[in-house]
Order: sequence, then C-alpha cells, then structure tokens
Amino acid sequence: MKIREKLQSGKVHISFEVFPPKTDDKYESVLKAVDEIATVKPSFISVTYGAGGGTSKNTVGIASHIQNDLKVPSLAHLTCVSSTKAEVREVIKKLKEEGIENVLALRGDIPEGMEYPAEDKFQHAIGLIELLKESGDFCLGGACYPEGHVESATQKEDIRHLKEKVDCGLDFLTTQMFFDNHILYNFLYKIREAGITVPVLPGIMPVTNKSQIKRICSLSGTYLPERFKAVVDRFGDNPKAMRQAGVAYATDQVIDLIANGINNIHIYSMNKPEVARAIMENLSEIVDE
Ligand code: FAD
Repeated sequence: MKIREKLQSGKVHISFEVFPPKTDDKYESVLKAVDEIATVKPSFISVTYGAGGGTSKNTVGIASHIQNDLKVPSLAHLTCVSSTKAEVREVIKKLKEEGIENVLALRGDIPEGMEYPAEDKFQHAIGLIELLKESGDFCLGGACYPEGHVESATQKEDIRHLKEKVDCGLDFLTTQMFFDNHILYNFLYKIREAGITVPVLPGIMPVTNKSQIKRICSLSGTYLPERFKAVVDRFGDNPKAMRQAGVAYATDQVIDLIANGINNIHIYSMNKPEVARAIMENLSEIVDE
C-alpha cells in the first residue's frame, strides 16, 4: 500500500522506525524487534539506510519482510551521496523486485574527505528523487529540518531547496526530531507560506537513555528546551525512570501535535518494541485503527 493513501485518510496514524543491524549476527534480533513493533499496528514501519555499506545492505530485506510477511506497509530509506549512481540503480532494482512501494529519498551525510561535485554521484537528494521518479511508480518521501539543515546558511535558503525537492515529485516529508513543538508549528507556517503543501510527518524521538542526548546534539544541533533538560537531569541516571519519563515526554509532544490537527506522526523508535508499545498504550483512545 502506498503511504500517501494513509496520510490523506484524515485518521490519526502513528508510524515507527527501525534500523538494520551493523553486523550480520544481529540480523535475527533486529527482525524479532521488527516483528514485535508490527504487533502494535503502526500505519507503517520505516527502515533506515546506512550511508556507504554497513547497515545499508539489509534495508531492502527488512523492508520486504515488513511489507510482504508482516503485511504492514514499509518505507525503505535510500541514501545516495556515498554510492555511485550505478550502485544506487542496483538498490532501486532490488526495491522493485521486492515490490517495495514507498521510499524515503535521502542524500545522506557527506563522508569526510569526499569531494563534490563528482561525476558519478548525486550531490543532493533531488538527483535521487529524479532517478526514482523515472525508475518506477514509487510513493516518495523526503527529509526536512524544522531547525534548518546544518549545512544551510539560512532557513530561508533551506526552505527554497526543500521546495525544489518537493516539486520534483515528493508525496510527503518527514521531519528531523525536535523537542519543542513550537519549532515545528513555526516551520510549518513558513513552508506552507513558501508553497509546500504535501503532508509533513513530525518525527518524534522518545529519549529513553542519557547517552542518546549527546549523540543527538553532536549530530544535528537540535535545541533542547529547559523542560526537557530538567527531565534528563532528574531521571538520566536511573534507566527505568528515564525510559518512563522519555516515553511520557514524547507522548506529551504527540498529543499536543494531534490536538493541533496533525494526524500523522513518525516515532523514532530505534528497534525498541517496548517503547513503541508504551507509546501506543498511552494513545490507545486517540489513534485510529
Ligand atoms: P538534501 O535534501 O540534499 O539537503 C542537504 C543540504 O543541501 C541542505 O542543506 C539543503 O538545503 C542543501 N541543498 C539541497 N538541494 C540543494 C541544491 N540544489 N543546491 C544547493 N544546496 C542544496 N541518513 C542516513 O544515512 N540514513 C537514513 O536512513 C536517514 N534517514 C533520515 C530520515 C529523516 C526523516 C531525516 C530528517 C534524516 C535522515 N538521514 C538519514 C539524515 C540525512 O541523510 C542527512 O541529514 C543529510 O545530511 C541530508 O539529507 P537530505 O536528503 O535532507 O539532503
């Protein structure tokens, strides 16, 4: 099923994200987590793609398992910046062979020391979107950044590139995580004003352990509100309490988003079925079947 049909249904939907194992010996345990996440009936499950080998080779396999065995729509991520165009074409071929209908078209982070522009590589997601459009009948999503992408000098410039990317044929956007919903509302106002009309799925990260936070800040420079920092200060050294508080904080964000008319929300569940289940239990009277 194409995800865009779900996004337009007017019902409240929650989706989850998993990432493939870094090593083959972890493959079965990731599949087990995926199977458990599927039991909470998400609207879809997305599977990340590790830029440049590593976790990338299992993305198509896991996305296929979700869609074809578990009968839950899957969204396969695909990055392009550290692969040749020929390698990207090969992955697209596999996606088609497995009947994967939904792809999140991404550039990926530029590997250190890599020079651009390069003849045989895409420099921006837009090149990948064009290739996917001419390669098959995919439902296509793209990434967006409520606080601006780290490489953009201004948010205005980032939104101008986002508009070009959407106009190329995206069906929806998923946002980078954020911990203050006002940032999302402000961003939505700006992109709607810029003429971007596709559905936007806010990406919510339940922070369930202290070490996640350092990674988040160093990777994306995400703003951490005082309310969030107070939760981490108080519960960060008690793993069980931090998990409960992290799920509660994320649930609170989700309820506020739904109350403000946003029906489709993506949860960065990070291969944690217990987190997916806890969030769905908190929303049991709110989420539509
Ligand atoms: P782009 O849309 O190409 O944008 C990248 C930068 O280039 C931006 O600053 C943009 O403003 C600028 N830009 C765009 N077009 C142009 C142009 N024509 N000229 C000049 N500048 C331009 N990474 C992974 O490796 N694997 C994943 O599975 C993954 N999943 C993600 C899921 C989500 C929802 C998000 C938000 C991010 C994800 N990422 C993933 C991270 C992502 O790959 C990085 O943030 C990457 O740096 C940018 O990817 P993009 O597709 O947004 O790039």
